[in-house]
Amino acid sequence: MSRREQHQDTYFPEGEDFFKLINKIETQCVQETESNLSTLGNQIPKCYKQLGIVLSLMYRMGCCHWGCHGKEHTIEHLVGRTVTSSMAALRLIKFGYYDEALAIIRNIDEIGNLTFLFYNKHEYIEEWRLLSDRERKNKFSPPKVREILETLKVIVPTDKERYGLLCEIGVHVTPNTTPQTYNLLGKPILGNVYQSLGLIICINELCWAVATVAAPAAKIALIDRKYAEHIFEVAIKLASLIGSIRIEVLKELKDSRK
Ligand SMILES: [Zn+2]
Repeated sequence: MSRREQHQDTYFPEGEDFFKLINKIETQCVQETESNLSTLGNQIPKCYKQLGIVLSLMYRMGCCHWGCHGKEHTIEHLVGRTVTSSMAALRLIKFGYYDEALAIIRNIDEIGNLTFLFYNKHEYIEEWRLLSDRERKNKFSPPKVREILETLKVIVPTDKERYGLLCEIGVHVTPNTTPQTYNLLGKPILGNVYQSLGLIICINELCWAVATVAAPAAKIALIDRKYAEHIFEVAIKLASLIGSIRIEVLKELKDSRK
């Protein structure tokens, strides 16, 4: 009997049993990840803690915890989406689904660029809100938002290059796509396996994405200035804690294996 036939004969769980098996190894991956989040080097534990401070404040901003201004909640809703997307991305990171976490992080980066545009040109908030879906997609698509920011000669929080890498790794498949490849050997892994490189890249990218929403949102939100200033400060601190191991490293690793 060939080795391949032997493998085909071995029992492998299916149906509900398959999900039970995956859930069991997901839980193990969460435990390993959480212990590393508080011990992995100097920078990751600090980022993780600061992310929890920023997201807690954004949570309160998103649900009018400090009182409701009774007007349009455009900024609150963008902040709320950022909070729920971040919590979802964190769950995926802890389960070892780093690719999928990066797809969600890319969505937060889009909100970050849009919020930064609103901060630079307040009149766009109303325009964005009132345009038809078709006109909005046309004028405020992610590439158009980057273009407008460039025209305004301000920084683009998530530029074309970073956005492209996030698309390539987390969103669009290509013939070179390999799942959850966050190791020096370029070995594909089907998730639920802790990989320190995956954790570091995803946490750094998530912290950046969240900071790019929180800082400008705090400046333009209709909340008490004392909360706004505090949110701005903690968001800037979050951005300052982010390490250098970001998504570009994956491209460098891939290129080095060619
Ligand atoms: Zn409200």
